[in-house]
Amino acid sequence: MTAQDPCSRRPRRTALAALSATLLLAALPAAAERVALTFDDLPVNGALAPGTTEDAIARATIAVLKARHVPGVYGFLNGARLEDHPDGAEALRLWVAAGFDLANHTYGHHDLGEVSVERFVEDIRQNEPLLDLLQPPARTRWFRYPYLREGDTLAKRDAVRAALVTRGYRIAQVTLDYEDYLWNSAYARCVAHPDPAALAWLHDSYLELAAGYLDAGREAARELVGRPIDHVLLLHLGAYSATILPELLDLLERKGFTLATLEEVSRDPIYALNPNLASRDGGTLLEQLLEARQRKFPAAPAKPYAAIERACAKPPAG
Ligand SMILES: [Zn+2]
Repeated sequence: MTAQDPCSRRPRRTALAALSATLLLAALPAAAERVALTFDDLPVNGALAPGTTEDAIARATIAVLKARHVPGVYGFLNGARLEDHPDGAEALRLWVAAGFDLANHTYGHHDLGEVSVERFVEDIRQNEPLLDLLQPPARTRWFRYPYLREGDTLAKRDAVRAALVTRGYRIAQVTLDYEDYLWNSAYARCVAHPDPAALAWLHDSYLELAAGYLDAGREAARELVGRPIDHVLLLHLGAYSATILPELLDLLERKGFTLATLEEVSRDPIYALNPNLASRDGGTLLEQLLEARQRKFPAAPAKPYAAIERACAKPPAG
């Protein structure tokens, strides 16, 4: 019937169609990008509140991830963190028992800008026996650079990349990062000496920064490749993880992200790009690609470094 409509009706139909499309677009999230959640610095990042154990942190975080059906979560392990924290081993056991994966974040979390290639590669190797002990050889061997620093010279960058290939690793890049770790130790302090106003500020500032950087990361991707991409979100397992995670997951949902595994999102062709950037500061894949092209990262909220340090800090002695 509609195909034979007289020409005179076309403008009205077109206008209706356009209006419907506009309403539909307005009702939908901006895009349906997928995102993989990844946690660095296992067994635990940052300080813990008195009386809290590393396995309790892992147990509570795993419970949220399971309840919200977050798929295929990777934890990036630093073996050295177990040396002074024997309950970290139980945290890792719980992580694996929950069906989550572990990956290599180097043994000692060295900054590639401050150590030689040989020392850095040795640090990768030193982490492997522990990973092999905790988990059967993974389908994919993933590696994440500490501090997201991939080399302050191209020679170092290329040499470490070659060593990673030789050892069978894929680089677990990051596209979304708002330095969530800043909140872990602050939260532990604020729980130790309960301060409701400070806790409320931690909560609000975390979610505000996360929202701003999710938007900025999407915008950066569109600037670079002209389309939405599938993202990898960098988080750090610590004192604040289980508390804030439900609302972070709500935020991701409101922003239109759907959850996926690291393997799934890494099929996006953007992850095949090598920024070939020598950088002291490093950064996410998007930050590196923009810097390599001498372009600026989109505007994002300022990170409240000083305020976080002040939150629940002890008053000066005397
Ligand atoms: Zn780290």
